[in-house]
Amino acid sequence: MPPLQPEAAPLFHVIDPRVFDRAQLDDLCDLTTRVRLLAKHPEGARFLLGLLPDRRAMLYFVQPSTRTFLSFNNACHVLGIRTSEIRDPSTSSEVKGESFEDSIRTFSSYVDVIVMRTPRSGEAARAADLMNRIPRPVPIINAGSGQDQHPTQALLDIYTLDRSFEEQGGIDGKVIGLMGDLKRGRTVRSLCYLMKNYRNVRLVLIAPEQFALEPDIKAHLRENNIPFVDRARLADVLPDLDAIYVTRMQSEWDTAGETGRVNYADYSITSENLGRMKQTAVIMHPLPRGPEIAPAVDDDPRAVYWRQERNGMWMRVAILLKIFRADGVVRDFDISALN
Ligand code: ASP
Repeated sequence: MPPLQPEAAPLFHVIDPRVFDRAQLDDLCDLTTRVRLLAKHPEGARFLLGLLPDRRAMLYFVQPSTRTFLSFNNACHVLGIRTSEIRDPSTSSEVKGESFEDSIRTFSSYVDVIVMRTPRSGEAARAADLMNRIPRPVPIINAGSGQDQHPTQALLDIYTLDRSFEEQGGIDGKVIGLMGDLKRGRTVRSLCYLMKNYRNVRLVLIAPEQFALEPDIKAHLRENNIPFVDRARLADVLPDLDAIYVTRMQSEWDTAGETGRVNYADYSITSENLGRMKQTAVIMHPLPRGPEIAPAVDDDPRAVYWRQERNGMWMRVAILLKIFRADGVVRDFDISALN
């Protein structure tokens, strides 16, 4: 891993993955590793717990979430940050007709950071715009906005790729397959935005025609000289891939049973096709999974999605440390003294 970047800029809002440059990504990955190692030791865990006990976070999650909610909640707790939450919009004054802006402004009156997931695209950006106009703004973290973006997922995906390729020169030069519902899945859209930071990465987009990656993201890839090809079936490209990032069909957005017409065999990892993958390849998935990864694949050492899930909590600790500018003390902590 490259050396630390102590001068990397502090974070405020985390809305759009395009703002991250390579130095910030390397810095976040390094910080994530430090936190992960520190937390393994009782003394390190207590040190982390004592870092931000005076901070409060609002978890506003009005779209289903298991991992992102729990990992943010626990990331806050790792650092001593106290949390409050709204997970069901019917319990908020929005049902009385309060505007989205007024609700967000209200949350900001009580806490120091708002982590939010909403079913509508662009709402986290709207919340951040509002914060930039009020006297006591708090950072907004986009924890998934409609079909649009999921920046913290992309950051943990980068961390997982980086860790997986530690002995193989990192992410640079790798061939990465992105498979599944590339049209309606926000994780791939965010991950594509981060790819501009890595040299000579080639993307293979594997999706049914009706769920192909949207033109805006393809335009971004072209503008940033990231080569990509579209393929209709995994079988055609499997042996070439260094990583396969599998996603589920986002059936919650179906209007006329579109998911039902997908031939899953072309977009799935099974024990049978594992034999055609490189020995050094990695299989990732943002989860939850559907039939696109057979449970038997979990036992293969190339399946890293459970590690990826856990990395999510550590990366979110690192993001919170950066936001609250508490990363410096973590860097200064001598981890070797704990061993
Ligand atoms: N958990 C991810 C998301 O919230 C992926 C998914 O739901 O398929 O976007």
